[in-house]
Amino acid sequence: MPECIFCSIIAKKIPADIIYEDDDVVVFKDIKPSAPIHWLIVPKKHTQTPADTDAQTLGLMAKIGARVTNDNGIDEKGYKLVINVGKGGGQIVNHIHMHVLAGFKTEPSHEGR
Ligand code: AMP
Ligand code: ZN
Repeated sequence: MPECIFCSIIAKKIPADIIYEDDDVVVFKDIKPSAPIHWLIVPKKHTQTPADTDAQTLGLMAKIGARVTNDNGIDEKGYKLVINVGKGGGQIVNHIHMHVLAGFKTEPSHEGR
């Protein structure tokens, strides 16, 4: 089985631009940002989707999103927290993660909601 890229980052086997870390999660900059600010909140325990992830971890990702945006002074302007689930949901890395997207010049449209 190929090694999980996010597990490798968590194990510090490959580098990442880590902006926050605690016992349960790591937050690092997305290597291919699709917004001026694009971070990934990644639980240290490997699961794949919300279906196999416990509710506490799912909630924790949102709380960490609130924390890191506050720590970096971008919470008041607003941001997006996004989980892509499965191939049809655009999930490429099969280790659950939450995207933090921020720094938009204009308010994003709401077409996608
Ligand atoms: P998703 O499409 O939800 O699975 O998102 C996976 C994200 O991980 C993409 O936005 C990628 O750009 C990002 N990514 C993949 N490899 C790395 C890496 N080594 N370091 C940082 N971000 C990565
Ligand atoms: Zn993993």
